[in-house]
Amino acid sequence: MKVTEHLRQSKKTLFSIEVLPPLKGKSIKSIFSAIDPLMEFKPPFVDVTYHREEFVYKKREGGYLEKISIRKRPGTVGICAAIMNHYKVDAVPHIICGGFSKEETENALIDLNFLGIDNVLLLRGDSEKHEQHFTPEPGGHAYAIDLVNQVVNMNNGVFLDDDLKGVEPTSFCIGVAGYPEKHFEAPNLNTDIAHLKNKVNAGAEYIVTQMFFDNTKFFDFVKKCRDAGITVPIIPGLKPLSTRKQLSILPKTFHIDIPEVLYKEVEKCTDDTAVKAVGVEWAVQQSKELIKFGIPCLHFYTMGNPENIRSIASQTF
Ligand code: FAD
Repeated sequence: MKVTEHLRQSKKTLFSIEVLPPLKGKSIKSIFSAIDPLMEFKPPFVDVTYHREEFVYKKREGGYLEKISIRKRPGTVGICAAIMNHYKVDAVPHIICGGFSKEETENALIDLNFLGIDNVLLLRGDSEKHEQHFTPEPGGHAYAIDLVNQVVNMNNGVFLDDDLKGVEPTSFCIGVAGYPEKHFEAPNLNTDIAHLKNKVNAGAEYIVTQMFFDNTKFFDFVKKCRDAGITVPIIPGLKPLSTRKQLSILPKTFHIDIPEVLYKEVEKCTDDTAVKAVGVEWAVQQSKELIKFGIPCLHFYTMGNPENIRSIASQTF
């Protein structure tokens, strides 16, 4: 079933999660053990992230360095199928522009369609570690909106090969990303929201936000989106703080602020068990306020750590 149908049919705020594919070499059990503790909160859909290849240099005999492409977390498509089969919930694979030509994207979407997957979250992806700016793959897409256009075309029966006859259209429900604190490359929030509106006008049916720790940023973002004419559901993404290191890692990686009050609470903690408790308490307060605001669904970034999400959900849902 489509994410938008789940949102429409539910009379209360839904609980949903995002999981990461296991590290290469781990079994499917590792992802099930990250989902099992959260199933009692009945997520109607589970997002599975996509991780593009990274390049590393390996020292070889004679001292020369060989550049090697590795994918640390492969398997998004297979994991989605396994999740749907094992839990009877919908899976939402993340599809990115980075590293893919349009043909490769089309082939992946055909696989997803054969597997009965109804939803995709379409993203640009980040630049590779050695790059200053995001560089599209030759024959690939530069922005998430290009990916939206490709999926909308397939939903209208238009595939890349225009000689195909008797094409059966796909019917993917399309989600895209939004940034309450603005995407880091955007010159300002209004311009970023204008680009977001273009993704919606192109066919995106709902928005999932980047994590944030200050609800007023989300409320302001929703107001600005609505003022700009964006009417689709906006699902807030939440991640509880769980280690002291995240005070610097999260702002650096995700370009978000940690409110001063939260920062000071974490600073007082003597170990990460105490940080976890502060992070859970903060996320519970955020969740309760967001539910009161009338959000359709609360989406949690589990990052392989279901226990703190379980604790938040049990105090919220
Ligand atoms: P876009 O919508 O393409 O926007 C990128 C930037 O370009 C923005 O600054 C935007 O304002 C600007 N822009 C857009 N269109 C134009 C235009 N026509 N001209 C000029 N500028 C333009 N990454 C992964 O690799 N894998 C994942 O699984 C993943 N999941 C995510 C899930 C969520 C909910 C979120 C919020 C992010 C996720 N990301 C993931 C990270 C995401 O790929 C990065 O944040 C990326 O840098 C931007 O992706 P986007 O889809 O928002 O890009």
